Amino acid sequence: MQDFQPGRYYLMDTDGKACSADDVKVENEDLQALIDAEVHKKSSAKRAPHIELMKKLRLAGYEGLSEPGHIRLTPKGALVFDLLTDRALQIALELGANPVKTPILYDLELKPVSEHAKLFGQRMYKVKSGKRTFALRYAACFGQFSLLSESTLSYRDLPLKMFELADSYRLEQRGELIGLARLRKFHMPDIHILCRNLEEAKAEFGGIYKRCLEEGRKFGWNYVSLYNVSKDLLEDSKGSNYIKSLVKMEGSKVLIHVVPSGTYYWILNIEFNFVSQQGRIIESSTAQIDVGNADRFDISYVDEEGKERRPVIIHTAVIGSLERFMADLLERASSLKIPSLPTWICPVQVRFINVGSDSLDFAKKLAEKFNDNSIRADVDDRSESVAKRIANAEVEWIPYIVVIGKREVDGGKLPVRIRSLRKTLDMNEEGLVKKVKDETQGWPYRPLYFNMLLSRRPKFV
Ligand SMILES: [Zn+2]
Repeated sequence: MQDFQPGRYYLMDTDGKACSADDVKVENEDLQALIDAEVHKKSSAKRAPHIELMKKLRLAGYEGLSEPGHIRLTPKGALVFDLLTDRALQIALELGANPVKTPILYDLELKPVSEHAKLFGQRMYKVKSGKRTFALRYAACFGQFSLLSESTLSYRDLPLKMFELADSYRLEQRGELIGLARLRKFHMPDIHILCRNLEEAKAEFGGIYKRCLEEGRKFGWNYVSLYNVSKDLLEDSKGSNYIKSLVKMEGSKVLIHVVPSGTYYWILNIEFNFVSQQGRIIESSTAQIDVGNADRFDISYVDEEGKERRPVIIHTAVIGSLERFMADLLERASSLKIPSLPTWICPVQVRFINVGSDSLDFAKKLAEKFNDNSIRADVDDRSESVAKRIANAEVEWIPYIVVIGKREVDGGKLPVRIRSLRKTLDMNEEGLVKKVKDETQGWPYRPLYFNMLLSRRPKFV
């Protein structure tokens, strides 16, 4: 058995061999960036392109009336955010989770709250109300655990999954705040899974792990993983075989950070990191196996023999905080040859541009038809030149742009500028509808959050 030192980092390959990560160099640039950041505490990333993009695309901005780390979203940003909310709920329901909504304030005089808060450290917002001091939640754990501790649970109910999209508050240091990637207020799609025992938890955790990787891959990115593992799990033969099986499933080397046994409530805490083109590490998705909180929050279930037992709890946020996900999407887009977002999440999917006033009514009717068909379409009816309005739509990364002139009003085909191809193709109305529908199939939909006509839309910043 290999000797793992607490506080040190190791690199484990898919055959389960581990070596010290202190002086290794790896070919995978993303993994090297993670090693540099975690082991050597240095990051080469100076720029975070998503910050410029969130402003340029008019999605989000800093809020001068609040403190740093609290951002505001424009109607376009709110639309993207809500689509991600829908996606997070979709994933939770597919996994069989039970959604709940719980408070954001928790009384620090109560033991489970203060103990949990102590483990969390200094980054907690405190709020005074009357004579009491409350913790502003930094994750959904408190509310869900409290609910579960008062619920009647049987072994038949397990594994039991709970879900909440939790607005969470963490007092990060000023210098650590980065656009949407690191905020003081953010939204975590938190899932907790109660399992009968560690064996069941390991099996469930494997499924969650796979799902976390898959969700990232759907957007074309490969996470690099950091495993924080307690020393006793690594040194137990079953535990270490389990860790090896996870690395094998991941299919590439992972960085392992060993923590002293019994320090945290978890024994395994995996961070799936998105690495931007600039080498910035954005911790996106997470999953933990928790062996401490069932006891702390007095959560129990009744086993086959009628005895009360403590469950093992998995914490996970399959797509990570929604704001970080937005940052990942924008960072990824900025590295593409033709920067773009997936069609289902584009605030505007089809833009019609009328040539002169004669074709305006036709363009409006078309856009209305598309919106009735659950495709977000708008009309740039402003008096600027067609060329300028096309350029404008390009700046907004709109995937489909259609210029409507006399020929089109008279029943001709629609000249559709397809952003991803940098080409204009003649299509009929049904063809364009089908193309957008095919691309957005299975993803959430929301209608336009702003006026369909650009002439009637303020410029939000
Ligand atoms: Zn949790």
